[in-house]
Amino acid sequence: MLLSQPRVVVLAGGVGGSKFTLGVRAALRRLNAPEATVVVNTGDDLWLSGVRLQPDVDSITYALAGVNDTERGWGRAGDTERVNEELQAWGAGWPWFTLGDLDLGTHLARTGWLRDGHTPTQVLARMAERWPLGIRMLPMTDSEVDTHVLLEDGGRLHFQEWWTRHRAKLTPLAFENPGIADAAPAPGVTDAIASADVVLIAPSNPVVSIGPILAVPGIRDAVRETSAKVVGVSPIIGGRVVRGMADVCLTAIGVETSAAAVARHYGARSAGGVLDAWLVAEEDAAAAPEVEAAGIPAVVAPLWMRDEESSAAITEAALGA
Ligand code: GDP
Ligand code: CA
Repeated sequence: MLLSQPRVVVLAGGVGGSKFTLGVRAALRRLNAPEATVVVNTGDDLWLSGVRLQPDVDSITYALAGVNDTERGWGRAGDTERVNEELQAWGAGWPWFTLGDLDLGTHLARTGWLRDGHTPTQVLARMAERWPLGIRMLPMTDSEVDTHVLLEDGGRLHFQEWWTRHRAKLTPLAFENPGIADAAPAPGVTDAIASADVVLIAPSNPVVSIGPILAVPGIRDAVRETSAKVVGVSPIIGGRVVRGMADVCLTAIGVETSAAAVARHYGARSAGGVLDAWLVAEEDAAAAPEVEAAGIPAVVAPLWMRDEESSAAITEAALGA
């Protein structure tokens, strides 16, 4: 049943999350529905050269504000790298990690407010005042629970080093978020989930974007207990990841890179999981019976997010699920 003005909560990571969130905003505006609440993964966050980076938070903020670099896929449009060159000359930071000048402005502002004693939730609210985002953004938690990658040789890398420096070429054994067992959901997160009509799981990386969000104690239970419909969107199209390294992450946790396997990984809410429905790409229509066999109603829809319109159509399909 399609609710006329649904209250929507989205769980999201960076690139897939921001493309999806743009569509959620557009679809809800057409319905005159309230602004959605997006609970953003902060497992990618890191300290570098004294500043706090929040890659997924910034990807979504920049995309909603329309100031993101759509060609490169990350950072600010029209950015320059003068400060980065100077940092490299000092041998500071990471030589393989580029920080744009405008982007650094964001990190400096954020770090200053954190140092002043504001929580990440408060800092994000303050950042959202600059642009009319049309979405309420909440970090998953105010605790620092940065993702680490455990390697075969016993080594351990920050997720950003594993991905940006090594391009996910070092085989991961596991992903960990040290401290997450003691973390709490950011203020407002569980209330938003409890009072939602629909919870959407974005087509984000199931392991290192949605995984950490659900691993914050209290969030998974809130999703399991809400009266809202919980609808997930497959990040796998035609048996492949669209972009990024979700396939490597899925392999590490023993999940096949297929729409049905990811659905089973999230699980049916009726069987201890979190899903009431799963959107499968048209290319994977043959997988629908396998999803349904796991107790999860499957909806076949076009899942390529080429632009805001195609992304909004995915939200509309999810709201109709
Ligand atoms: P990250 O934090 O930047 O890695 O981005 P996310 O975790 O939010 O999203 C990454 C996932 O988005 C990848 O697994 C991709 O397969 C998926 N993705 C990217 N573009 C699309 C798209 O157009 N359609 C769908 N269904 N998934 C996509
Ligand atoms: Ca991310």
